[in-house]
Amino acid sequence: MKIAVIGAGFGGMSAAWDLIRAGHQVTIFEAADHTGGLASGFREPHWDWSVEHLYHHWFASDEHMLGLIEELGLSRKVFFPLPKTVVYHKGKFYPFDSILAALLYPGLRWGINKIRFGLVGLYLRLTKNWQALEKTTVDSWMHKWAGDKVYEEMWEPLIIGKFGEKHARAVNMAWMWARFHVRSTRLGTYQGGFQTFSNDFAAILSERGVGIQLSTPITAIQPLPEGGLSLTTPNGPQTFDQCLFTVSPGLLAKMAPDLPEDYLLGLLSLKSMGAIVLTVSIDRQFSPEGYYWYNMPKSAGFPFLSLVEHTNYVSSENFGGDHILYIGDYLEPDHEYFSLSKEELMGRFLPSLTRINPDFSIGWVKKTWLYRTAYAQPVPLVNHSQNIPDLKTPLPGLYFASMSQVYPWDRGTNFAVQVGRQAAQRMLSGD
Ligand SMILES: Cc1cc2nc3c(=O)[nH]c(=O)nc-3n(C[C@H](O)[C@H](O)[C@H](O)COP(=O)(O)OP(=O)(O)OC[C@H]3O[C@@H](n4cnc5c(N)ncnc54)[C@H](O)[C@@H]3O)c2cc1C
Repeated sequence: MKIAVIGAGFGGMSAAWDLIRAGHQVTIFEAADHTGGLASGFREPHWDWSVEHLYHHWFASDEHMLGLIEELGLSRKVFFPLPKTVVYHKGKFYPFDSILAALLYPGLRWGINKIRFGLVGLYLRLTKNWQALEKTTVDSWMHKWAGDKVYEEMWEPLIIGKFGEKHARAVNMAWMWARFHVRSTRLGTYQGGFQTFSNDFAAILSERGVGIQLSTPITAIQPLPEGGLSLTTPNGPQTFDQCLFTVSPGLLAKMAPDLPEDYLLGLLSLKSMGAIVLTVSIDRQFSPEGYYWYNMPKSAGFPFLSLVEHTNYVSSENFGGDHILYIGDYLEPDHEYFSLSKEELMGRFLPSLTRINPDFSIGWVKKTWLYRTAYAQPVPLVNHSQNIPDLKTPLPGLYFASMSQVYPWDRGTNFAVQVGRQAAQRMLSGD
C-alpha cells in the first residue's frame, strides 16, 4: 500500500516505523521544518545539546517509548538522573520527590490528614479499576476520600494549574489515578536532548525508505470515488491507499469535512488546553539549592504555573555554560498570553522570579524564546472512554491517532508511541 502519515511527532514516526517494516510505501508529511512535534527542540550555535521547546522528560515506567528506543538500538543514549522537585507552601519551597518528602511536607500537619493522604496515594497506586474512577470527578472523589484539607492543599492546585478554573472541577478521577499509578521520580532524557532523539529516529526511518517531507503542511483530506484518499499538499494533490492523521481533533474536522456528521461532532466536542513556555538562558545558576522543578499553586499569585531549571537536570556544560530556565503555563487557547508579545510576557514573568531567588536580576538574562501551542493537554471529562474517537475513522482508509485518544493515561511521548503503533496495527489489518 501507499500510505501517508500526517505529522512527524513521535506518534506519526512510530506508526511509520511499523508500516515500513511491514513492506509498505510510507511518506510522512510534516508542517514544521523539523521532526519531533511537541517534543521537538532547538539549539544555539554554541550549544552541544538541544533544548526542548516545551520541557520534556521520560518516566522509568514509559515502557512503549523505552521499548521503541531499544528496538532502534539507541538505549545507550538514554539516562535517568534524579532531579529535585519542590512544592510551594507559604513563601517557601519544600522537596516533593519521594514518599518520605511528601509525608514531611509542612502543608499537612501530622495526624489524620497525613494518614488520609498516605492511604489515598497507596490506594490509587494499587488499584487497577480506573473504569470506576472515570465515572466521577477528581473534585468530588478527593473531597470524599482525601478530605477537604488534603485535597485543597495537595491536589487541587495541580488540577487547577493544569486545567484552569473552567475545567478543574469537571476532570474525571481516572486522570488523577493514572498519575499515581505509573509515574516514577527518576526522570529520563536522551544524550543531546529530545530533538537529537527525534533526528536519530528520523534518520533510521529514512534509511528504511520512509519519505519525510518537512515544511509540507497538508490542508485537506478527501475520499476518492474509486477508493483511497487525496491529500492536498503545497505541491498539489497526492493520492494514497491509507492515511494516518496525528494532529488535533479540531484540525481533522476542518481538513476532512466528508467525515460523517456524528464523528465530526464527536471530534469537535473534545476539550483541550493550550500551553505556553518562555525559555530563558541565563549566565548563572538560578536555584542555589539545585532545584529542577518548582510547582507553584495559582493561588500563590505567580503569573505562571511551572518554573523548571533544565540545567539542574542536565549539565550547563552541554549549553556552552548557559543555564536554562523554562517558565510555563497551561491555559485556555483564548487566554491573553496567546496574543501578548514575547517582551510583554517577559515583563509579566521575569520580575516575579525575585520571589523565588531575591538575587535574580534581569541582567542575568542572555536570550529568551517563546513557544505557544493551542493544543497541549486534552481535558478528560466524566465517562471520557465513551467519547474517544476510534482510531479507524468512518472514511475508508483514514485513521486518526492523537493525544486526545490517549486514555486513561495522561498524554506523553510514551503514549504517542503506543497510540501510533496501535493505529499502524489497525491499518495493517484493515480493522
Ligand atoms: C508543556 C508540555 C509538556 C510536556 N511534557 C512532556 C514530558 O515531559 N514527557 C512526555 O513524554 N511528554 C510530554 N508532553 C506531551 C508530548 O509532547 C506529546 O504527548 C507528544 O509529543 C505528542 O506526540 P504526537 O505525535 O501525538 O503529536 P505532535 O507531537 O503534536 O505531532 C503532530 C505533528 O503534526 C504536525 N502538523 C500539524 N499540522 C500539520 C499539517 N497540517 N500537516 C502536516 N503536519 C502537521 C505538527 O507540526 C507536529 O509535528 C508535553 C506536552 C506539553 C504541551
